Parts: sequence; C-alpha cells; structure tokens
Amino acid sequence: MSIPKRVAVIGAGSMGSQAMWRLAARGAEVIGYDRYAPGHDRGAAGGESRIFRAAHLGEARYIPLLRLADGLWEQLQAETGRSLRRRSGSLVMGEAASPAMRLLLSTSAANGLDHEVLDREELERRYPQHRLPDGHTAVLDRLGAVIRPEASIQAAAARAEQSGARLHRYTTVREVVPATGGGVQIVTDQGTDHVDAAVVTVGPWINTLLPDLPQTVDVRRVVCSWHLPTRHDWFAAGAPAFVRSTPHDCFGIPSPDGISVKLGLSYAYHLPVPDPDRLDRTVRPEELGTFRELIGELMPDLNPDPIRMSAYMEGYTKSGNPLVGHVPGEDDIVVMAGFSGSGFKISPAMGEIAADLALDGTTEHPVDFLAPAGPNAVSPATSSPEVGK
Ligand SMILES: Cc1cc2nc3c(=O)[nH]c(=O)nc-3n(C[C@H](O)[C@H](O)[C@H](O)COP(=O)(O)OP(=O)(O)OC[C@H]3O[C@@H](n4cnc5c(N)ncnc54)[C@H](O)[C@@H]3O)c2cc1C
Repeated sequence: MSIPKRVAVIGAGSMGSQAMWRLAARGAEVIGYDRYAPGHDRGAAGGESRIFRAAHLGEARYIPLLRLADGLWEQLQAETGRSLRRRSGSLVMGEAASPAMRLLLSTSAANGLDHEVLDREELERRYPQHRLPDGHTAVLDRLGAVIRPEASIQAAAARAEQSGARLHRYTTVREVVPATGGGVQIVTDQGTDHVDAAVVTVGPWINTLLPDLPQTVDVRRVVCSWHLPTRHDWFAAGAPAFVRSTPHDCFGIPSPDGISVKLGLSYAYHLPVPDPDRLDRTVRPEELGTFRELIGELMPDLNPDPIRMSAYMEGYTKSGNPLVGHVPGEDDIVVMAGFSGSGFKISPAMGEIAADLALDGTTEHPVDFLAPAGPNAVSPATSSPEVGK
C-alpha cells in the first residue's frame, strides 16, 4: 500500500475548502490552515449569495469548468444533505449590439446552453421589477442559480474533516517555502510543518504570501447593499439573479431569505485595498449615492434606502482570468488566486483541479489558459467586464 501524499491547503475559503474536500476524497493526508475559520466574512466570500451562470463571461473556455463545477455542486449537496444552491435562473441585461452581449449569445447558442432571449417588452412583462432602456435586451440562463457561499465553504470543509482532513483554524501561515530535498515547509507562529505539496488559496492575501508571482493581483474593496422591495409582488413572478451593464454596471441577487435584494457594482467602482488586514468597512455617502441612482433608473420598485451595506475584498488580474497552476519553477506549490469577481461558481472545479495538480502534478481539465506564467499573465481581457460575475 502506498503512503498517502501529505498536502497543505493554505486558506480554507472559497477555493481552499473545496480543495480540502477533493483532496481528502482522494485519500490524501490534508492539513488546512486559515487565519479565521470556514464561512467568515473577512475575505472574498461574504454576503450570503453568489450567482452561478452556465455561460460565465460569455467565455467558451470556461464552459468545461462550469460543467465540472455544476456536477460537483450537486455532489457536495448530496454528500452533506445541505441546501447550497438554488436554481433560480439568471438574467444578463445589456445593449443588444454590444460585443459582450453578442459574445454571450453566440457562446450560449454554440454550446447548447439552455437560454432564452427576451426583448424589452417580454422582459418587462415577465419580470416587471426591471426597466430596460431602448436598444437593450436580456438573456435568461435557465441553468443560472444562487449559491450560499458561507454554507458552501462550511459544508466543503466539514466534509473534508469527516474524511480525515485536519484544519488549523485561526492560524496564519507566514511563509510557504520549498524544502531542501523536496516538499514544502509551511511556517506558522506555532511552528513549521513539512508536506509533499502545498495549495495556496489565500484570496485577497495572495500578494502578502506569494509576492513573487509573475503578476501582482489587484486587491479591491467590493461594497454590497441590501434593499427591500416597495411592491409586495416583487418576488412573485420568480426573481432570477441578474447582471446588468450600461447605464450602470451592476449585479443583483434576491436574498436567500426572500426578504431583500442584494446589489453590487462592477470593478470600476471598487476602491483599492492597500492592506487586506485593514479593509475599510465604512461605506461612503457617494457609494450609497451610486446605488440610489441605479435603483431609480433600473429598478424603481426597490426602496433606495438600504437595510444593510457591507464591504468585502476580491483580487483582480489584468486579464480578468484567475491564476491557476503551479507557481513558476515550483513543482510542489499550486496557486489559485485573482478570481476577479466571478470565481465562486467554479470553486468546486478549482478544488478538483487543485487535487489533480497537487497529487498527480498535472490535470486533464483545460486550465492551461489560466497558468500563472502563461499568456494569462499579460493578455488583455477577452471577456468583458460588462457582463461580469
Ligand atoms: C461582494 C462579492 C460578490 C461576488 N459575487 C460573485 C458571484 O455572484 N458569483 C461568483 O461566481 N463570484 C462572485 N464573487 C467572486 C468570488 O466570491 C471570489 O472569486 C471567491 O470568493 C474568491 O475565493 P478565494 O478562495 O480566492 O478567496 P477567499 O474566499 O477570501 O479565501 C481566502 C482564504 O484564505 C485565508 N487566508 C488568507 N491569508 C492566509 C494566511 N496567510 N494563512 C492562512 N489563511 C489565510 C482567508 O482567511 C480566507 O478564508 C464575488 C466576490 C465579492 C467580493
């Protein structure tokens, strides 16, 4: 019988909890570390809800990853008996003639994704909570869903622990260094562990732990705002999660408790975070002003006075694609970072791929285009932030 590989997962958040689950399922000896504990709201995963879309960014290269993630979301729910994802459908709304909307439509059609195009009249008939400007159209993605991020992270971490993984909660990893003679040293304030391989999934803290990656991840502060409908029937016709572009790039998700609608803005509105240990959580009046303005124009049946506002963090790359693969020159260290505002939906796929890379050194899933040292490090976005999430 072969000795199981000992693998460290640094950061048990969105990607790390899934990596722990998939590694433990494959019989690895898994040691996880998190500066907090699974399900906390200090990083990229807070705020109760995340959108799942079958046509992520309209980018065909993500479709196999979304299919992999889709199956694993179902598997995680079945294994844990937890309700983690609800198929609500999702809507993308934007200018019909824009390159982003055309890309989304052609990718959806070419890949047989279950979708429907709604013109302005049809959208307002079916979903009267939205107003669509002239020349705009909507695409309904029937595989779209709303995921519960905190519950998902806790479920994946718990499943990993049930399968034998150990998780050091409230333990900050200070250094990840290749060991002389092979393997990796994981340095914490409590001591140093030696493992065969390490998966680094520290989200917005990536520049602190791995400062020498080929590109720096741009860490931004993302504000969300929760609003109550003023019409009693706001949710009646079904209320898919949505992403909208022009005149306001924003997204919205009916909250899982069915009481309010969470709104968020796109990258252009996110302030830089110079130090992820000191995220400024105070929302400024001008930030509230932006939400009030977009509600007035696009969703006048929401009360512009929020019942709650919160700030989170996320790491963005220049290309908009995450960095996924071995750290250049380090065969035993895998990194996954820079998910650029849209990584949660594919997190179980990332967990599976992390397990492949850490245990086998390679993966058959198509992630070469995300390699940290590849064209991903420099190429401009092929997808559009207009239809982000
Ligand atoms: C407000 C908001 C809304 C979003 N909406 C969507 C959406 O609708 N759909 C979608 O698909 N995506 C969405 N995203 C993006 C998605 O949530 C992120 O891409 C994803 O959560 C990133 O996961 P991560 O594992 O990289 O980071 P995280 O989930 O933050 O995990 C990093 C973990 O590492 C730990 N850590 C950090 N440093 C250390 C250390 N030195 N030692 C030990 N532990 C450490 C942290 O405590 C944390 O638990 C959204 C993001 C935000 C912020």
